[in-house]
Amino acid sequence: IWSDVLDYVRKSISDVEYHTWFAHVRPLGVQGGELVLGVRNSFAQEWFRDHYLDLLENALRHLGAQHPKVSFQVLPAVQDAMILPEPREPEPRSARAGTPAAPAGDNLRKNLNPKYVFEHFVVGPNNNLAHAAAVAVAESPGRAYNPLFIYGDVGLGKTHLMHAVGHYVSERHPEMRIEYVSTETFTNDLINAIREDRMTAFRNRYRSIDLLLVDDIQFLAGKERTQEEFFHTFNALHENHKQIILSSDRPPRDIQTLENRLRSRFEWGLITDIQSPEFETRVAILKMNAEFRRINVPQDVLELIAKQVTSNIRELEGALMRVIAFASLNNVEITRAVAAKALFEVFTATEIHLEMRDIVKAVADHYGMSVEVLKGSSRTRDVVVPRQIAMYLIRDMTTHSLPEIGQFFGRDHSTVLYTTQKLSEQIGKDSELSAAVQALRQRLQGLESEV
Ligand code: ADP
Ligand code: MG
Repeated sequence: IWSDVLDYVRKSISDVEYHTWFAHVRPLGVQGGELVLGVRNSFAQEWFRDHYLDLLENALRHLGAQHPKVSFQVLPAVQDAMILPEPREPEPRSARAGTPAAPAGDNLRKNLNPKYVFEHFVVGPNNNLAHAAAVAVAESPGRAYNPLFIYGDVGLGKTHLMHAVGHYVSERHPEMRIEYVSTETFTNDLINAIREDRMTAFRNRYRSIDLLLVDDIQFLAGKERTQEEFFHTFNALHENHKQIILSSDRPPRDIQTLENRLRSRFEWGLITDIQSPEFETRVAILKMNAEFRRINVPQDVLELIAKQVTSNIRELEGALMRVIAFASLNNVEITRAVAAKALFEVFTATEIHLEMRDIVKAVADHYGMSVEVLKGSSRTRDVVVPRQIAMYLIRDMTTHSLPEIGQFFGRDHSTVLYTTQKLSEQIGKDSELSAAVQALRQRLQGLESEV
């Protein structure tokens, strides 16, 4: 939550102002829907009240809080406790294995994100080959596949896997030089080295690496001088059996304006891809994320989010964070209704994936009858009409097929087709019916009444 608030603040004020005032603010927690912030002294406290209260409340509103409130507390002199749930740092595995742990911060110096370890990588049918290859390389760097080339769309875990190999190797071989760079960093390093006449240092540095991780190599396209230099770096490392892992958003053959000699080298080792995760994997990723943050999110909420966000894992995590923030700011439990509401603004209403049972329940409630009666065999008009409306709304608001809807109601698909077509005609003629359907639709879209 706090980092989302900061993002919002950062966009609204100048950098200088931001660093002056917000660098030392600590979130102390959320109490009764009120965000409590710790500031360094009473002067800052007053300053924040006078200058940033509106901005912070707007930030919370922007994140979905209905009645945002912010208060400021002066922190004791030494105070860096974070009461808001923060991701747990991964346990240093080397300590468990009985070998001396690497000095703290060591992995940061290698540019490795502590969260991106194998333990936090959910394996599914979409990524199991890439994962297996990464593990093989991590087990015996330089001797399994060299280079390992991982490609896939953005947000599917390429960077995560590369870092995971880095962590793994660094714990088993503390003496090895491991370096993670984006292709952009490599390019900039090169440009600076050329400009400052430090090419020898540049070469020595890159050619003494034992495990080189280069991310988003597609950005080499069209950069001739960088390709040339990377070619020599690659050769030097490869000849000495140093491991290279490359990532890209596409396979080597599809990287335009890549020199052929580089392309063929990228194909020397193993090329493996990551696809979009399927539903079960998405749910598992969300579950792991919630556990990681020590927040209890019910299974049906995880499923709702997983249905909502289908391709990009970063967005999937973002949606979960949004739901958690929304519930916490409004001081309500995380339920399906709350989640639907939290995601309502992000995803247009019709994209909210409703379950057939949600719709049937809403219609039954509206007409004051039980779900069993509505789905039952009664042919009286007071039951038939609501049943038709429920079928109609399910066809309209979900992606379920006619046979699926038919099966749910214990009827065949032609009945569903006929019924919904007829109701649709009726709606055009009967304004009362039309209003009822409209009201139900709105209710379902926001699941408004339940929050
Ligand atoms: P890419 O580099 O392919 O664009 P990232 O590696 O940056 O994607 O992944 C985006 C986010 O999704 C990261 O927070 C990462 O931890 C998470 N993520 C990706 N794949 C998985 C996975 N299989 N299990 C758990 N988290 C994942
Ligand atoms: Mg990446």
